[in-house]
Amino acid sequence: MLAAAAARAGGAALRRVGARGLHWSATAASAAEPAHSHSHPLSANEDFDLTEDQRQFQHVAETFAREELAPYSADWDAKHHFPIDTIKRAADLGFGGLYVGEDVGGAALSRLDAAIIFEALSWGCVPTAAYLSIHNMVCHVIDRYGTARQRGAYLTALTSMEALASYCLTEPSAGSDASALKMTARREGASGDYILNGAKAFISGGGVSDVYLVMARTGEPGPKGISAFLVEKGTKGLSFGKPESKLGWNAQPTTAVMFDDVRVPSKNRVGQEGEGFKLAMKALDGGRINIGACSIGGAQFCLDTAREYTQARQAFGGPISQFQATQFRVADMATSIQASRLMVRHAAAALDAHSPTATMECAMAKRFATDACYRVTDDALQLLGGYGYLKEYPIERYMRDLRVHCILEGTNEVMRIIINRELDKLDPK
Ligand SMILES: Cc1cc2nc3c(=O)[nH]c(=O)nc-3n(C[C@H](O)[C@H](O)[C@H](O)COP(=O)(O)OP(=O)(O)OC[C@H]3O[C@@H](n4cnc5c(N)ncnc54)[C@H](O)[C@@H]3O)c2cc1C
Repeated sequence: MLAAAAARAGGAALRRVGARGLHWSATAASAAEPAHSHSHPLSANEDFDLTEDQRQFQHVAETFAREELAPYSADWDAKHHFPIDTIKRAADLGFGGLYVGEDVGGAALSRLDAAIIFEALSWGCVPTAAYLSIHNMVCHVIDRYGTARQRGAYLTALTSMEALASYCLTEPSAGSDASALKMTARREGASGDYILNGAKAFISGGGVSDVYLVMARTGEPGPKGISAFLVEKGTKGLSFGKPESKLGWNAQPTTAVMFDDVRVPSKNRVGQEGEGFKLAMKALDGGRINIGACSIGGAQFCLDTAREYTQARQAFGGPISQFQATQFRVADMATSIQASRLMVRHAAAALDAHSPTATMECAMAKRFATDACYRVTDDALQLLGGYGYLKEYPIERYMRDLRVHCILEGTNEVMRIIINRELDKLDPK
């Protein structure tokens, strides 16, 4: 899929080589850069040793972001439009199941590969890329922890994005303290089915997604009493709140999801009873890399825009880019982005290697990249002066979109809790 798309996008002839899932190799030297590539020069081979294959799918994602996302993302934000057709076209390129097995339509890429792709996509539209990240997170849980039946029943539709997925952990009274969740899944004696009751809050894709990965309490208080279930839209007793009115991420809906005696067959439980919280947290390690990558792509867009603007905008007899204050600010923005990129990719590589430090590094990278990149959007807005504050220019939208990355997938305070806990585990006092 990626090969065909790259060929369409850049005229490249690609061939599949695949020792580790999908590898892509150029057979034409002309394959690499689009005419107006937005990929930052520092994101190329020399700083993190991207393989030729990685450069190829980075190029595919950049082309998709430039042609299919960036021209429309302001309109989607203004109209609160969830671009399902565009998202489904992203699936044609393999973005619906990035690190899912090929036997069920996935691309079998690594977490590092995926981080490169999410960064490139979010340059064009942050909330669309972020929704793809959440969808991929659910796909990963089914692929990694699901039964053969669950993989067969769900993943082909999910990787092709005929069906969309949502991740349901947060509840109205349990956000950061997610293991205190109250939603129940009571086993009914005769049938063995589970009966789900309760409510989830802030669910991305709520009401639109077809499959919901739901964490609910089957046993004791705390994390060990939680199990994970796949619940299909249309199941009796499942309903959705109205879309929340939000600061950003307006190109995807966020709703409450309500469960009123929702009957779920036991074959839809993912993992063993009591394993649900563990699966949910494992999924978030990867989700945090992706959301960090989405912050980097958004910040890179703001830096690119601000540099172009400051070279054109005149004040005191010349372009404002001539002022050292401007140059220092730009230098700091570029440094923040590059530091974020290196941390996110390093964490992704740690996750790929199943390193014992992976959870800590994912939390560090998410905390650092989302904070630093949000500040970059604020700097870019300042460089555009009053125009930065206008909706006619894109910076304020990227700023609004990146703000929530400091809150979701675990707040940045929760990241610090995780980092401390992991430090203590790795190096007990
Ligand atoms: C747009 C959007 C989309 C979302 N999508 C999803 C989704 O798809 N699925 C999903 O399950 N959830 C989703 N969420 C929920 C998100 O993950 C939670 O909002 C987040 O985990 C924080 O929970 P809370 O909002 O209840 O805040 P709280 O937990 O109430 O936290 C409030 C403040 O207290 C701080 N705090 C809490 N505990 C501590 C502590 N021990 N030490 C220091 N500070 C602390 C927090 O960091 C925060 O600053 C989404 C949220 C938003 C806004």
